[in-house]
Amino acid sequence: MSAPPPVDVAVVGGGIVGLAIADALLARHPDLGVVVHDKEPHLAAHGSGRNSGVLHAGFYYSPDSLKARLTRRGNAMLREFCEERGVPVRDTGKVVVTRSVDELPGLEELYRRGQVNGVPLEMVDAAQLRELEPLAQTVERALWSPTTGSADPVAVVEALAARVRQRGGRVEVGSEVRAAGPGWLLTDREHLTVGHLVNAAGLQADVVARWFGVGEEYRMLAFKGLYWYGSWPPGRLRRHVYPVPDPRNPFLGTHLTVAVDGRAKIGPTAIPALWRESYGGLAHASVGEVWDTATLLPRFLTSPHHDARSLIASELPKHLQRRLVAEAARLVPSVRPEDFRTKGRPGIRAQLFDVRAQRLEMDFVVRAGEQSTHILNAVSPGWTSALAMAEHVVDRMDL
Ligand SMILES: Cc1cc2nc3c(=O)[nH]c(=O)nc-3n(C[C@H](O)[C@H](O)[C@H](O)COP(=O)(O)OP(=O)(O)OC[C@H]3O[C@@H](n4cnc5c(N)ncnc54)[C@H](O)[C@@H]3O)c2cc1C
Repeated sequence: MSAPPPVDVAVVGGGIVGLAIADALLARHPDLGVVVHDKEPHLAAHGSGRNSGVLHAGFYYSPDSLKARLTRRGNAMLREFCEERGVPVRDTGKVVVTRSVDELPGLEELYRRGQVNGVPLEMVDAAQLRELEPLAQTVERALWSPTTGSADPVAVVEALAARVRQRGGRVEVGSEVRAAGPGWLLTDREHLTVGHLVNAAGLQADVVARWFGVGEEYRMLAFKGLYWYGSWPPGRLRRHVYPVPDPRNPFLGTHLTVAVDGRAKIGPTAIPALWRESYGGLAHASVGEVWDTATLLPRFLTSPHHDARSLIASELPKHLQRRLVAEAARLVPSVRPEDFRTKGRPGIRAQLFDVRAQRLEMDFVVRAGEQSTHILNAVSPGWTSALAMAEHVVDRMDL
């Protein structure tokens, strides 16, 4: 049997980040041989298909961060892509409300960041908030973000895979990469010679990076996001409604969003998960991963950089639907537990923990390795930013 022909670029992971990088590479170099490998039998099985579908605007992030640079541009690029491919986008906008006067300085800081990041934002009073979103409540002021929106994350991933194929790339599902090193990779079907490997393996990205000796300081800490859909008529909630987040954590707090079909949903939570793909029951449970989590959590809990104890104490009870709904009712008082009884598909956040610095990594992390590029912390808003992230990565790739 003859060996398979060499591949110019192999991408590990057919989530939105891997597909966006394959797409950007082929747009620039139409003759390049690009193959995307995804271990699952269908696309969007992990984060890229299990998220809130919020097109973020880009105002939360520290102005010197990749998140700040790539989210505003990613939002514009994703909208353009959706228009080109006929994927519906809902222009919901978003309001950020305060639950007490203590949160007003945090709201001002978000406004300031938005200004520096060049994101359209308006500070509104309670009367203006009522016009924008009659169901939301705030103390004194709120932020209005007109460029935040919604789309169906699975539809976006499928449309992007179609464009990669149209450009001449291959997208192989059910193809697990078991090992790799500079110039080669081994899937469950074949051994391939590759010019360059792109690691966009989401929850497994730290494992793949270590095959190349990259990102040794990192371990993945998984946080589970649960959702509950409302039975309200579509469009009753008009805008996404978010609280002011705790700046010490990379999560945005319990919020309400409007899906592209107009349904309101509550979530996601950020509950520490014992293993990476713990979507429900014991499926994909791994003794090794549970052990890793058991050794990492104490380091997270004693971290001087986060208030991990209060994060965990506030998140764990949200396993109970009524506790999660009660939290959301602080933003939108009319939500009631009996109206939010339909469970959404949970998602798991692939959050990197820097073991040496004892902190959660707050920004996207892109690292170069030998004949390889590693996207290590593609956390939220990575779905919004993916097309801009791909531009950023491809600009720096040494092919
Ligand atoms: C609950 C939740 C809510 C979120 N909400 C939002 C939001 O509203 N807006 C937003 O912008 N972002 C949001 N995000 C973040 C966003 O979903 C991620 O940033 C984005 O999906 C990351 O994409 P990815 O391609 O890196 O990862 P993934 O989608 O996880 O893709 C990685 C792929 O790699 C594959 N893989 C792994 N290992 C291997 C291997 N060895 N061989 C082959 N394939 C492999 C997996 O099967 C998977 O398909 C949210 C995330 C979560 C979890």
